[in-house]
Amino acid sequence: MSRLNFKLEQQAPGSRARAGSFTTAHGEVRTPVFMPVGTQATVKGQTVESLKATGARVLLANTYHLMLRPGPAVFEKLGGIHRFMNWDGPVLTDSGGFQIFSLPGERAMNEEGARFKSYVDGTNYLLSPETSVAMQRAIGSDINMVLDQCIPSTAGFAEAEAAMRLTHRWAERSLRARGDGPQAMFGIVQGACHHDLRKTSAAYLTKLPFDGLAIGGLAVGETHAERYEFTGFVTDFLPANLPRYLMGVGTPIDILEAVHRGVDMFDCIIPSQLAQRGTVFSSHGKLRLTRACYKFDEAALDAACDCHTCKTFSRAYLHHLVKADELLGWHLLATHNMAYYHRLMREMRAAIFAGTFLAYYERQRTELVRADDENPSVPQKRTRAPTLPRLGDYDIVKAAEGFASIRQISSGEVMHSVNRPSDEADRLYVEQSGLAGRLVRQGDDDDGEFVIWDVGLGAASNAMAALQCFERVLAERGAAAVRPMRLVSFEIDLDPLRLAAKHAQFFPHLRHGAPHALLANGRWTHPTGRLVWELHHGDFLEKFPATAAPEVIFYDPFSMKTDGALWRPEVFARMRAHCAPKPAELFTYSSATAVRVALLSAGFYVGDGVSTGPRAATTVAAALRPQGQGEGRGARVMKLLGEEWLARWRRSDAKFPASLATTEEARAEFSARIEGHPQFGRR
Ligand SMILES: [Zn+2]
Repeated sequence: MSRLNFKLEQQAPGSRARAGSFTTAHGEVRTPVFMPVGTQATVKGQTVESLKATGARVLLANTYHLMLRPGPAVFEKLGGIHRFMNWDGPVLTDSGGFQIFSLPGERAMNEEGARFKSYVDGTNYLLSPETSVAMQRAIGSDINMVLDQCIPSTAGFAEAEAAMRLTHRWAERSLRARGDGPQAMFGIVQGACHHDLRKTSAAYLTKLPFDGLAIGGLAVGETHAERYEFTGFVTDFLPANLPRYLMGVGTPIDILEAVHRGVDMFDCIIPSQLAQRGTVFSSHGKLRLTRACYKFDEAALDAACDCHTCKTFSRAYLHHLVKADELLGWHLLATHNMAYYHRLMREMRAAIFAGTFLAYYERQRTELVRADDENPSVPQKRTRAPTLPRLGDYDIVKAAEGFASIRQISSGEVMHSVNRPSDEADRLYVEQSGLAGRLVRQGDDDDGEFVIWDVGLGAASNAMAALQCFERVLAERGAAAVRPMRLVSFEIDLDPLRLAAKHAQFFPHLRHGAPHALLANGRWTHPTGRLVWELHHGDFLEKFPATAAPEVIFYDPFSMKTDGALWRPEVFARMRAHCAPKPAELFTYSSATAVRVALLSAGFYVGDGVSTGPRAATTVAAALRPQGQGEGRGARVMKLLGEEWLARWRRSDAKFPASLATTEEARAEFSARIEGHPQFGRR
């Protein structure tokens, strides 16, 4: 018999969204529900009263942090977390697994559990299924999570399978340790981005007497498309009569997408974390209160919101608090963001009951990703600050948001113009290629060099993002666990990097010895010898045939308009031939039809990449047919372009590459090649 007595109250027509409720010793919870994160038995900057006023019902607390400080004895003496923090609603505790496996620091893991040193006082600890359950019992939470082994969602099949099997054995030990105690317990479905494993894990855990099931191991490295796909895939295999919890997710749009796919419970630090940076969600898009356009703005933060912040203060005052870095600014913005999240959950629940969820979902899909449309950002080309330095054909431009980029003066083209350069580099290239997971050796004989091509070094944003990813993996795993990496950068004009390196105060990613050594010597080697970064100065087309074939290509030259030569079908065909037989993947910021058709005609398999800020779509291309799920390292879901794209291409003005002869024959032959591409399923 379930300890939560979950009732499925309503199922939305045309969607898998559902409304339900369950009961704990501290009251009833209605789903879908968002749980604010109270890491240290407090939600940062909030009082219990302010939390309740925003609509919070269940809190999440972190076993790992509370185990180290204040420790179980304090909870036992003070009568559990409810009395300790004066919160009388339900509390869910995680197991500590996520922190153990994701925070930097030393740990030794085996079948028994994970041994690590406390960051508080250096004491040695063992986090095992039994010690985690004992700590959660001392905390006195209403819902316990089992200890699981968390790995990057980009992990290869073998690593993911081993972690899943261990998680299953630990799940059984956790249930035994809980025994017939009163606390509810959730199992956690693992399996990274491998369909077979996710299915196996869901089936296995469903047979055990859990009170709810969670989906773990997402929001740690996969693309949004993958996150949505795997969420929906897993909920298909979960029983309808248990609550479902998607751990650590996410933004409002992530939550909407997951509710649509049948998830009931969520937690995330985003509402508080974004507030700390001065950002809020609102009914007219995401607002950055750091922007000067709010300095004299007397309006409420969000006229459609009835939270304390919106009822009481002007945007001008909130802008001032944020600029002055006052604690109250963080508190007030977080209060609003929490109210926004809880209102979103209530609206979804109401729409499910009203039978209108599908329409709500379709409307909100675009609403929830809107930027600030009352005060659109001024395009950067007009914000040139004449006092900033220049070199040759390049100068430094600063965005309204405060970050700097390099601009080519003659073309007006700005490198990484829409996002903070390092953010875009991380998201578009490093995360999307699953680099962190692929740098981990899969066995003793796995010592092949991992080669990355960085085409268009520019100010080294992408190269440094890859290098820093390598250094993170190295710090977390130790040199013996990391594959050697070769970073091959191509650049015809070094002025952008010279200019940025000289003014590194504007470019945080360049506060590192490597780019300076690269400029001086054309090469840099990591002190461990495991990473070599080499510079090929000159025309990419002349240079690349003499370099090692890559597994991953960051393709970031200037746009087709500025540098058409690098986007021609012939160039992509030569690159693909050079990579063979490696299953190389190419990532690029462009989603232009002309670029995609050039890649297709060169034989690449082409799909949608992640969106980055205002860029709605980017492009991923694979030199060989993407492997089936679970085959080999880095096998990821790739959303290949399909019939819909093909239909758009047939109507497009940019149907043929500019370099193609304009004869009927040439065009017919080109069209046949695209139409007959195996990715469209017709040979
Ligand atoms: Zn508000």
